[in-house]
Formats: sequence, structure tokens, C-alpha cells
Amino acid sequence: MTQMTQSYLAGQLKLALKNLKDIEYAVNEASIVAITDNNGIINYANEKFCEISQYSKTELLGQNHRIINSGYHSKDFFKKMWKTILNGQTWHGEIKNKAKDGSYYWVDTTIVPFLNDDGKPYQYISIRNDITTRKEFEEEIKYLAYYDSLTKLPNRNLMEKHFQKILSYKERNKPLALMFIDLDRFKKINDTFGHSVGDRLLEKVAERLQHTLEGKALISRLGGDEFILLVDQIQQKGVIKLANEILISMLKPFHIDNKHNIIVTASIGISFATPDDIRNHEKTTNFIEKLIQQADIAMYYAKQQGGNRSQFNTPSINAEIKRNFNLENELQHALEKNEFSIHYQPIVDLNTRKIHGLEALLRWENSKYGCVSPYEFIPILEETGLINKVGKWILRTVCEQVKLWHKQHIDLSKVAINISPLQFNDENFINDLQDILLETQLNPKYLNLEITENVLYDINNSLDILYKLNHLNISISIDDFGTGYSSLSYLKFLPIDTLKIDKSFIDHLDEHGEVIVQSIMSMAKNLHFQLVAEGIETEKQLKFLKKHGCERGQGYLFCAPLSSETMTSLLKRNLVTKSIL
Ligand code: C2E
Ligand code: MG
Ligand code: MG
Repeated sequence: MTQMTQSYLAGQLKLALKNLKDIEYAVNEASIVAITDNNGIINYANEKFCEISQYSKTELLGQNHRIINSGYHSKDFFKKMWKTILNGQTWHGEIKNKAKDGSYYWVDTTIVPFLNDDGKPYQYISIRNDITTRKEFEEEIKYLAYYDSLTKLPNRNLMEKHFQKILSYKERNKPLALMFIDLDRFKKINDTFGHSVGDRLLEKVAERLQHTLEGKALISRLGGDEFILLVDQIQQKGVIKLANEILISMLKPFHIDNKHNIIVTASIGISFATPDDIRNHEKTTNFIEKLIQQADIAMYYAKQQGGNRSQFNTPSINAEIKRNFNLENELQHALEKNEFSIHYQPIVDLNTRKIHGLEALLRWENSKYGCVSPYEFIPILEETGLINKVGKWILRTVCEQVKLWHKQHIDLSKVAINISPLQFNDENFINDLQDILLETQLNPKYLNLEITENVLYDINNSLDILYKLNHLNISISIDDFGTGYSSLSYLKFLPIDTLKIDKSFIDHLDEHGEVIVQSIMSMAKNLHFQLVAEGIETEKQLKFLKKHGCERGQGYLFCAPLSSETMTSLLKRNLVTKSIL
């Protein structure tokens, strides 16, 4: 070897060594590096290793990697890793380790085995990178995907996973129940106390549910104030008992922020899947969807009955609620489609049978459902808030009709219009009414508004409106009198002039009803109220009413409600009502 070649090689070697040093420096700067022998004993650890594990070099060297084991991974995980590197292959994976202070960190790890002349590994170099932030973020996302962040209860996703597991159980002889729980008037609580109190309340409700059910059901939060409970292997009796336990547990006030004592009730809808339903189900997602929907419908029904109760889903409830939904849809367009009309029923003088006044009654004829009873559709109009718009239409239509009758020289004392409590308490009610009177140029003295006793619950607001109406010269009747809670002496102080005795009392005149009607009549007379008896159908009823001094009444005995055209010709002929029965 010539001198030149020798010095060339030395130069090359120097360069290679320098490059190696540079690579080592770069790797140490970039990654966590450790070298272990073939028994897994650490004999090299770089600065970054010490930094992340919080152990000093002296604490690490001579130790097994178990010193940083977090216990997170299974034995199988490490078995596979060792198998790979013992075979001389590079292993790559993500490992959760434990630092000296007990905190955890995640590292993306590559372990490269180095082989001796026999092809056996004699040492392993591991290069790791800190991925803790990414992993924590991933774990958070995973948590959020399966748990509700407010109550820490499982969410719908986890509930569905659990449901799938339940469905796969082979041994099954009892049904599965799904309960849909919804808090009553939760919106009111939110509006009154604010959303943060609402949130605290939901947390406490979740805790109370867990405490009451003691692991008997999987509780999940669907969102808002809705919870779903899955109870497997349970009979109907058991579910009723459980539902009652939940309802009772809610009755204890919830203490929020040491400031508020809130009582909240719940409505519970229950659907059932028998072992046969479960065995024969087709697609799991459709099956659970169906059970939730059925429980939801039953819950809605429980709520309609006043809440604080549980209700099983039954075919008749399904049909009723479905019809309600459909009617609601149809009602949305009923005004534009001209499907409403007003019928008029005479209020007669019981002695002469002559028409004294009329009551305007709303009618709805729909192309799909035909004539629907106001007893059925008025509550839907109220629930949806449509009653305000429809109510205005009724007021205008009746005022225009009365004006028209006046133009035709038809003499009428008054026309009564039913006003829903919602409409009555609406802030625009008086203004709208005045606008309509102005537009139609009708003298308000021809109007009588019928309200029910439950309008008077919010007495301050009602009083204000009653006096404004009184000021406008519009008279007021209490409709369905006797079915509410108001006392006569209390009503006496309100600007009300007529009481309409509810039909149910007239219906039962043969039984104990006589005494009730008699006492209502004598008290009303003493307090100078006008009386109208509703729903008179027989001569016998009429005779009794007349005998006790009731002067006015309404009912099929005299005349059923009639369309405006028929009523016009009746009024023109000014017939006594008996002859048009
Ligand atoms: P209501 O105001 O007590 O009206 C009396 C109801 O009894 C009317 O039923 C009437 O047709 C019926 N009726 C009258 N005489 C007899 C009788 O001799 N026998 C029987 N069985 N029934 C009789 P309708 O028209 O079905 O209305 C039912 C309820 O719906 C009304 O009870 C009222 O509460 C409500 N309603 C009707 N129209 C309106 C309206 O325009 N606005 C509002 N807010 N509610 C209305
Ligand atoms: Mg009425
Ligand atoms: Mg009535």
C-alpha cells in the first residue's frame, strides 16, 4: 500500500467517523435513544431519555426497561415485540410509558436489533419520539365519542355498542326494556335559573339515576334533558317497579350551588323487546332506532297526560300520537288552504226559545282527515302556538260576519267567541283585538269573550287584560264553569258577567247533579251573574233549569251549531229555535 493510498484511506476513515459522530449527534438531538443488551438491560440512554423518563443516567443504566413500564399494554403486546426483534427484524410501534413521578408519556418507538456473526442479536438500539400530546388528544376524542362530557355518562354511541353486545347473548329467556326519560318543564328551569344551573341539575339528575339504579341498567344521556336506560333480562312488572323508583327518587329536591332547591319530575316512556323480537331482528341499528322511537312516543304520551309518570308503548298510543303528528302537519297549512270555518250555535232564552245570542265555534275540514273535532285539534293548535294566528283569524271572521248581519238588519244581542288561555295571555292580544275592531268597524259591545277558569291562574296578568276588555266594553263569560278551581266569591271581584254551567252537570241532572246545579244557580243569582246552561238535550233538563230560574241556555234541544249561511237564513226568519231541530 503506498503512502498516498494509506493517507487517503486514513482520510476516508476520519471522514466516516466524523459522519458517524454527526449522525449520532443529530439522532440524540432529535430522538430518545437507548441501547440494551440481549437480556434487555439498558447500557446506554441519551439525555432525551433521561428528560422524558425523569430518571438520571445512573438510575437507568443496568436496569431493565420494566422501570418505565406503565402496565397499559398487555403481555401479548411485548411478547410479539420480543418475537420480532429476536428474529432480527426491526419492530415499530407506539408505547405508553411511566415516568419517575408516576405520570405517563407516549413514545413512537423503533427497535433495531444488531446481530453477531452467528446471526443472533447482541444488542438493540431503540429510537423513540414523544407523541404524548397527539395520544392525549386522540384519547380525548375517543372519550368524547363515547361519553357525555357534562354528566360523564355513556352517550348514544356507547349505548348502541352495549346494545349490540346484549343482542349477541345466546341464552335469553326474558325481554329487554328501553326507557326514555325526559325531565318535565326543564326548559322553564333553564329560562328561570339560567343555563349553568340547568347544567348542574342535569349532572345531579345523572348522579341520582346512577344511585337509584345501582347498576341495574345502562344509563346514557341522549342530549338535553333526555336519558336512555337499557335494562336487560327484565319482565314488565320489574320495569314498572324500576320506573316508579326513578319517579320517586326525583321527588327529593335537588340542591344546586347551595342556593337553589329545585324539584323536577320526569316522564318515562318504555318500549319492550321480547326474546323472539331480539332473535328475529334484522338490522341492529334499525332495531334500536325502533325501540327508541317507540319509547319516545310513550314518553310524549306520558307528558301529555301531565308528566311525572311512566307509560308503556302500546299500539293504540302509537296510533294516537301518529295521528296527532299528522294532524299537526295538516294544521300548519289549514289557514292558507281555507280549511277553517265558523259555525254558530244559538244561545236561547229558555222561556221563549228565541235566539238571544250566538256562540262562534271553530270548524276544521281537512282533505285527508275530514271534519276533525275541536276537542282534538284545538289542543294541537295550542301546543304548536298556531292558536294565536288562528285565533286572530277567528276574531276577524266573526267580527266581519256580525257586521254583515247588521248590514242585513239582523238584530243580534251578542256573539260569543272562545278564547284559548294562550291567546288570552299573549302580549299582543289586546292590540290585535283593537286593530280588528277598528278594521271591521264593529262596536265591541256586540262581542262576548268566553274564557275558561284556568286562564285566571296567572291572576296579575289576567286581571290587567280583563280590565282592559271591560274598558273596551267587551263582556266576559266563564266557559265550562264548575270544572275548574275558581270560587264564586273570588270571581265576583273580577269584571265577569256570565257563567256558563258546564255540560257535564246538565248531563247528570238525574243523579246528584241536581244539587250542584241548584247551588251554583242560587249563588250565581245572589252574586248577580248571568247564567247560561250548556248542552241542554232534553225537555226534562230544560224543565229543571227553568224551574230554578235559569234564563238562558244552549244545546241540541234548541239548535246545533250551524254554518254562517244557514244561520243567516235562520236569523232572517227570526224563528224560534225549536222549529229547526
Ligand atoms: P265549548 O266552548 O264549551 O263549546 C260547546 C261545545 O258543546 C261545542 O262543541 C258544541 O258544539 C257542543 N254542544 C253544544 N250543545 C250541545 C249538546 O246539546 N250536546 C252535546 N253533546 N254537545 C253540545 P265543539 O264545537 O265541538 O267545541 C268543543 C270545544 O272546543 C269548545 O267547547 C271550546 O272549548 C273549543 N272551541 C271550539 N271553537 C273554538 C274556538 O273558536 N276557539 C277556541 N279557543 N276554542 C274553541
Ligand atoms: Mg264556549
Ligand atoms: Mg263549554
